[in-house]
Amino acid sequence: MKKEVFEVGQTLKMLCSACDVEQNHTVESVTKQGQITKAICQACETSSTFSRGVKTSVAMGKSKTASPYDRTRKYRKGQAMMHSTFGQGEVTDVIEPQKIDVLFGDKTRRLIHSQN
Ligand SMILES: [Zn+2]
Repeated sequence: MKKEVFEVGQTLKMLCSACDVEQNHTVESVTKQGQITKAICQACETSSTFSRGVKTSVAMGKSKTASPYDRTRKYRKGQAMMHSTFGQGEVTDVIEPQKIDVLFGDKTRRLIHSQN
C-alpha cells in the first residue's frame, strides 16, 4: 500500500464516529513524515487523534452526543457510544460476533454486544 503524505489544513474524507458517515475532516496536525496525528470533522467538530495510522483517541464534538451503550445492539467498527462508566467511546474492532473493542479516551476496553 502506498503511503500517503498529508499537510496541516488539508481536507480529507473519512468516517466520523459521531456522525456515523464519511465526512470531510480538516487535518489538524501531522508527523514529520506527513502522517496524520489529528483530524477534526467539519460537520460536528469531533477530533480524532492517530498514532502510526491507528486511531488512539476521540473527542466528541460539542454538537454531538453518542447514543447510550446497549449490549443488545449490534455494533460495527467506527460507531460511537456513551458508556455509563467509561464515557464516550468508539468501536475500534469487532473481535467476535458478540465482542467489540471500544476506545474510551485513550484506553481500549472489551465489551459485549448483540446479546439477546
Ligand atoms: Zn462528525
